[in-house]
Amino acid sequence: MDRVLSYLTLNTRQFHELTLRARVVLSQLPLSLTVILILVGGSLFHPDLFESRPFLIGVALQAVLLALCFLVPWDRLPHASFLIIPLLDFIPIGLMRYGAGTVITGVGLLTVFPVIWLAASGLYPRAALTAGFLAALGVVWVPVFVTDTAVTSQSLTQSFLLPFIMLAIGVTIRVMTASMMAQQDVVEEKDRALQQLLEESARRERLLDTVVNSVDIGLIAVDERGRPLLTNRKLEQFRALAGTASDTAEEDLRIFQQDGTSPMPENRRPTRRAAEGQVFSDYLLWWGELPNQRVLSTSSRLMTNQDGTREGSVVTFNDVTELVRALNAKDEFVATVSHELRTPLTAIRGYLELLTGIPDLEPDVASGLEVVSRNSERLHKLVVDLLSTAEGTPEIRPVPTDFSSLVRERVGAAQERNGNPLVRFEDLTGRDLVALCDAPRIGQVLDNLLSNAVKYSPAGGRVTIAAAEIDGAVECSVTDEGSGMSAEELRGVFSKFFRTSAARNAAIPGVGLGLAISKAIVERHGGTISCRSVEGQGSTFTFRLPLARAEQDQELQAQEY
Ligand code: ADP
Repeated sequence: MDRVLSYLTLNTRQFHELTLRARVVLSQLPLSLTVILILVGGSLFHPDLFESRPFLIGVALQAVLLALCFLVPWDRLPHASFLIIPLLDFIPIGLMRYGAGTVITGVGLLTVFPVIWLAASGLYPRAALTAGFLAALGVVWVPVFVTDTAVTSQSLTQSFLLPFIMLAIGVTIRVMTASMMAQQDVVEEKDRALQQLLEESARRERLLDTVVNSVDIGLIAVDERGRPLLTNRKLEQFRALAGTASDTAEEDLRIFQQDGTSPMPENRRPTRRAAEGQVFSDYLLWWGELPNQRVLSTSSRLMTNQDGTREGSVVTFNDVTELVRALNAKDEFVATVSHELRTPLTAIRGYLELLTGIPDLEPDVASGLEVVSRNSERLHKLVVDLLSTAEGTPEIRPVPTDFSSLVRERVGAAQERNGNPLVRFEDLTGRDLVALCDAPRIGQVLDNLLSNAVKYSPAGGRVTIAAAEIDGAVECSVTDEGSGMSAEELRGVFSKFFRTSAARNAAIPGVGLGLAISKAIVERHGGTISCRSVEGQGSTFTFRLPLARAEQDQELQAQEY
């Protein structure tokens, strides 16, 4: 049936998509075709059929109804008007059945076509079924009443089955049509929802596209195998900077390390690292060659699906060339100024030493010189700190060192110069700890941590220093009960020139270099340094250094003998 329908409609459209006129014609066509079949059969085998006037009138009426289906502008009439055709169909069927008599039996079964049409239309279901039943009843009863023969119960019940069969067919068709229509409603509803979703997703895609291409940051999203899923215009500009064309392969891009000339190995390139599932922030790369070289800070974050499985990564590229230049200029400035300051300061300290060595100085002069000397020492420490920051990586010479003694010595010194006499020291350092370190440099770290603990402690506070061998390393911690820091401040505590607002507001002397230098020194030893802090309760700074191995330990003992 489907194929016939699609053939009749030239396979272009679904039945419900056709015009109302086409649908009316197609609905009438099966009946008309069957009538043509009867005519052909009749002309071949029962020519006497054409002598029956009712039969011929029925055929003519049928032809008129088909013509009406074609001619009436159904689309312009009230929607249910077309139902008149199946209702009228019963008249020619009745006439043809009556006319065919016993020559051709079963003509009454043609009522099935208008019954199906009425039931399948879905309009006025109850009225349509009742009308179909009554009309079919009319088809079998009207001839009984209009002919001369006496109306008997036998004559009335002779074809009584037909209307009931038609009713049953009508009900079945109605049920099936109703269910199909309900399904069609569901499908149409889903179709509408899908359409809306598609429009929404297209809108989001346009929005994403606009946002991604208007930001001043290069972006690339890669799948878990590193294949690009999305890139933006800015990234294409960066790629053009480092490649000959915007489609240059990742491995062929001219990307360099910090010196600006050594190529960045393929496995350390950001997209490759991201494809391997690495998460990183502020990873610096030098893109392209001088004089157009740019410094890009890259970061990568994972993309996960609903189950939390990794689907790929997003890498961002931020041009920080100007910032890096400014930082370099700052370092150069700091280095130059501190160099310039060091020479006169050395002279001042030398002469001060000479002056303070003069015996029997006036007490006023002696105390004045004492103040000058203290301040010149502070200035000297500042200059040394500035110089060592400008130098970058500190030079160290690690040797097996009696770490326990080193700590005791530095705690003693801190106690002596303790500017806050109400701070108490507690030394919980274990005995005989031997670390592989540069003693003066680590002494500098200890001095800085201890002096900070004192500086940022309230009166009556306690500073605890503990050191022990933990997990194959020497671990040393300095704990205070001082001002502490917020989580946000804690993140920047090891950065150069970092100072908490509390330290600045309380005008506690310092420039924020000690911890940056301490970190550089500890890391140069292959160790780590970290800080735990609770605002208003205190802080603990912990650093770990490699242990000296047994043979190195013996070396130390030999030195002591
Ligand atoms: P500074 O010379 O300013 O002390 P540091 O690098 O040693 O420089 O410290 C950086 C900043 O970290 C300090 O200015 C202070 O704000 C904060 N800080 C360091 N140690 C402590 C501590 N023990 N308690 C609270 N804040 C601290």
